[in-house]
Amino acid sequence: SSVDELQARISVCRACARLVRWREDVARSGRRASFADQPYWGRPGPSFGDPDAPALLVGLAPAANGTNRTGRMFTGDSSGDFLWAALHRTGFAAQPTSVAAGDGQALTGLRIVAAVRCAPPENKPTPTERATCSAWLQRDLELAAPRLRSILCLGAIGWDATLAAARALGWDVPRPKPRFGHGVEVALGRPDGRTVRLVGCYHVSPHNTFTGRLTPAMLDEVLLGLRA
Ligand code: SF4
Repeated sequence: SSVDELQARISVCRACARLVRWREDVARSGRRASFADQPYWGRPGPSFGDPDAPALLVGLAPAANGTNRTGRMFTGDSSGDFLWAALHRTGFAAQPTSVAAGDGQALTGLRIVAAVRCAPPENKPTPTERATCSAWLQRDLELAAPRLRSILCLGAIGWDATLAAARALGWDVPRPKPRFGHGVEVALGRPDGRTVRLVGCYHVSPHNTFTGRLTPAMLDEVLLGLRA
């Protein structure tokens, strides 16, 4: 499919020198001790899920010992554990956990993409890296567009990246740019007259989930809203 073609192109992207170095350094010699005997993916994180989904979930970027290790979005770290449990409770994910390729996990009605595809040091991509990777997000939106009804953005970086990609595609994005917030919703007009609902959600990072800023109930509510 076109999604597979896009994935193949993303998987060999080396456009951001700093991130290429980091993703490969972590994979080669910077592995966390508990994963020292495992092979690391060490490449851009491919999207995961239903290629014909009416909803996209936009994350920030792979974690160095999460997606950068397992090769699957939100897989192998505590952010992912929180997210997959919710995706399973709300009927999108086949299983409550996502461990590694071949574990039987699958998504229905949803595909997970990211604002930046390579693991950044300290989870902080630079503005230039974000701008460079937005070409891939733009292409993902374009491919999803014929069926796309809603986009859930985890965190402000995913939110801003999606708005920028939508604008670059000629979609009607309100000005001034809508501000990110949990539960904030914006309608994006498309040239074909249809609208796509953009929904903000606090990121599933431990910073939010361990402090109760984002609870399982809050996440379930926005996920269920994607089906509305
Ligand atoms: Fe390519 Fe995106 Fe990775 Fe940069 S972050 S190297 S643009 S895949």
